[in-house]
Amino acid sequence: MIIVMERTATENNIQKVTKTLEEHGFKFMINRGEIHTVIDAFGDKTTLTPGRLAAFEGVKEIKVIREPFRLASRDRQPEDTVIEFSNGVKIGGGNRPVAMVGPCSVEKDYDGLLKVALAAKEMGCEFLRGGAFKPRTSPYDFQGYEELALKYLKRASEETGLLTVTEVMDSADLSMICDYVDVLQIGARNVQNFKLLHAVGKCNKPVILKRGLASTIREFLLAAEHIMYYGNHNVILCERGIRSFDSAFTRNVMDIASIPVIKKYSHLPIIVDPSHGTGQRYLIEPMAKAGLVVGADGVMIEVHHDPENALSDGKQSLPIPMFKDVMGRINKMNNRLHYERTCLSANVE
Ligand code: PEP
Ligand code: MN
Repeated sequence: MIIVMERTATENNIQKVTKTLEEHGFKFMINRGEIHTVIDAFGDKTTLTPGRLAAFEGVKEIKVIREPFRLASRDRQPEDTVIEFSNGVKIGGGNRPVAMVGPCSVEKDYDGLLKVALAAKEMGCEFLRGGAFKPRTSPYDFQGYEELALKYLKRASEETGLLTVTEVMDSADLSMICDYVDVLQIGARNVQNFKLLHAVGKCNKPVILKRGLASTIREFLLAAEHIMYYGNHNVILCERGIRSFDSAFTRNVMDIASIPVIKKYSHLPIIVDPSHGTGQRYLIEPMAKAGLVVGADGVMIEVHHDPENALSDGKQSLPIPMFKDVMGRINKMNNRLHYERTCLSANVE
């Protein structure tokens, strides 16, 4: 890290910083400029954090050269993480992108869920998603059918062979959820619920971590770091849009650039969720494709057998016939992309 001292910093201020660096085993060089003194320091930032040094008298700013996330960083692990399931499905590492589809909430009508699951299976999707515990803005909105919903997901999985995904909101529910589903989801609203991140970090199920409504990319990767720090390295990031100033036509702003940025700085797989990213049915196909073109490892799409009567997020859910059309075109594009990225690039080399 580079520590820039204030122009008014005294010799005493500088010595206090260098003494602390020494005490923590850092190596450093002092450059005394005409106006500012700059200290170039190398050492273990877990023992002396930039945040602590920033509070020292006379310190103007600290520039961190290496990203603060370690386990999630590509510097530490250059090769992509690939998450493999017992049925052979793989996410990441240039494998063919996966699709996770299903209703926002699992509802009481099991047949409705099964219709969606069968359509997902028919279209070659790998995962059935569905909320059992719903993070709703209003306490008066539908909050999820909890264990009944988990039972339905498991039953639909047994009938179709699809893997299942559901959101965890409270670590108290975790062991029950783990009994029913294959993948845990941490929703956008809990991306910095650190205790919950630690709890899923101790589980042996892969975790989809959704980007928070106002998470920077660095904060997002540090949230993944929390999960990994507790032992679970099977983290799948999910870009689901961030809140910005213009909500006139879209619910969120889907940050498509975050995908190649994250691919550059992290080895973790990342998928896109254009349903929550845009809040609009007609935007799901173009934004899913946009995410895949820039390298996403999969898509998450909300599908409902009767969106007009859905208990949550009906407006952004695809009805089954539209889903089949959209998924058919996404599959074609994925086949083409996969061919170009594997066969063609192999020939060129
Ligand atoms: C969801 O996947 O249904 C959901 C609530 O997503 P997010 O956390 O991205 O809003
Ligand atoms: Mn939803």
